[in-house]
Amino acid sequence: PHDTVNVVVVGSGGAGFSASVAAHDKGASVILIEKEPVIGGNAKLAAGGMNAAWTDQQKAKGIVDSLELMTKDTMKGGRDLNDPALVDVLVSHSKGSVDWMTAMGADLSDVGRMGGASVNRTHRPTGGAGVGAHVIQVLYDNAVKRDIDMRMNTRGIEILKDGSGRVKGLLVKGMYKGYYWIKADAVILATGGFAKNNERVSKLDPKLKGFVSTNQPGATGDGIDVAGNAGAAMQDLQYIQAHPTLSVKGGVMVTEAVRGNGAILVNREGKRFVNEITTRDKAAAAILEQSGKTAFLIFDDSVRKSLKKIDKYIGLGVAPSADSLVKLGKLENIDGKALTETVARYNSLVTSGKDTDFERPNLPRALNEGNYYAIEVTPGVHHTMGGVKIDTKAEILDAKKQVIPGLYGAGEVTGGVHGANRLGGNAISDIITFGRLAGEEAASYSKK
Ligand code: ADP
Repeated sequence: PHDTVNVVVVGSGGAGFSASVAAHDKGASVILIEKEPVIGGNAKLAAGGMNAAWTDQQKAKGIVDSLELMTKDTMKGGRDLNDPALVDVLVSHSKGSVDWMTAMGADLSDVGRMGGASVNRTHRPTGGAGVGAHVIQVLYDNAVKRDIDMRMNTRGIEILKDGSGRVKGLLVKGMYKGYYWIKADAVILATGGFAKNNERVSKLDPKLKGFVSTNQPGATGDGIDVAGNAGAAMQDLQYIQAHPTLSVKGGVMVTEAVRGNGAILVNREGKRFVNEITTRDKAAAAILEQSGKTAFLIFDDSVRKSLKKIDKYIGLGVAPSADSLVKLGKLENIDGKALTETVARYNSLVTSGKDTDFERPNLPRALNEGNYYAIEVTPGVHHTMGGVKIDTKAEILDAKKQVIPGLYGAGEVTGGVHGANRLGGNAISDIITFGRLAGEEAASYSKK
């Protein structure tokens, strides 16, 4: 072996960093490896927040929440297919995880709400900073302070075991050093999901073939193979979350509320093609049938004024505008004459109160006020719910539900926590809680 250490952590997202810091603080020596040249994984891109119940931050704002309610919301969001024991860990540790991050210097004092939550419980920095970037920065600073050995451009290739099946280390490939192995008592896989790997995604869910992804390039799921080759069982791999409207220009998710508040979807030929507020899977499939596999969200100033978030998209430059539909068409290479006719037709349907063309159930407002806007969108794969099977100590299990001694998993690489569908705000909560747990468990295991 090239190096000897108590715990090797694979992946530098929120789960990997939490695991590294927690293992160190339990007295373990730690090496953290990351295959990409930059740290942070997909966690760094998270924009929502960190769900937690019964926190001081909630109490300070007079929000009444409970562990039962967070459990109920999480299970409902996951279509009751979550592993209840893992949800129990997620929920019961959520306050402690917020406190842990706060003690390390994070600001999670603002509390907002995301889809599927009955009360405000999404903790995030005050002032609108992205929660993922903030959390990763705090964890990174803490890892540096502890002098944790972090190696970028280093890929985890294979779990090595001794004759009795215990983990004895990890084969890695460094960009400059080439292949070498790290002798370790325990390995923690925190390699994230596979939303960026469309081959893998579409094999599991053919409806998602050709989808782009909101994820960073490293989200390819090779950690799933590393775990699988070590005998890990998988669960729920078929549950993959897509979002129909990812902005083509800026890679940002455009919230459903833009359609809910009145925007229509048209294709490059300037025509509507779907009930805009159908379910996510149907809207996504319809967009993929249009030329170039994209469509345009079209709206006017009345929709803009109804939704604060839209100003963010305009600020990001993904929603060009013009004072007429013909000009807007020219700007975005949409058939402007057809677009003008489509909007006039749509406005007449709004007046009549019934969408006889596509049976859209809500027609909140006509599109005829001030400037017009167009956001080019395409469906994007956002999160993979499934992954390696773990128990409530973040130990990875084999097909016979036996612990693989010395192998741990945390974060998006694991399955079970989110069932068939993850709620916004539960990913950050998951990676901090299970990352920390995996780090502590691996550290105490390494001393046995
Ligand atoms: P989580 O949210 O679960 O912490 P992230 O996607 O944020 O997951 O982070 C996972 C990180 O793991 C990414 O930065 C990714 O590049 C890295 N990674 C994935 N596979 C490997 C591997 N085989 N070796 C090293 N790093 C990996």
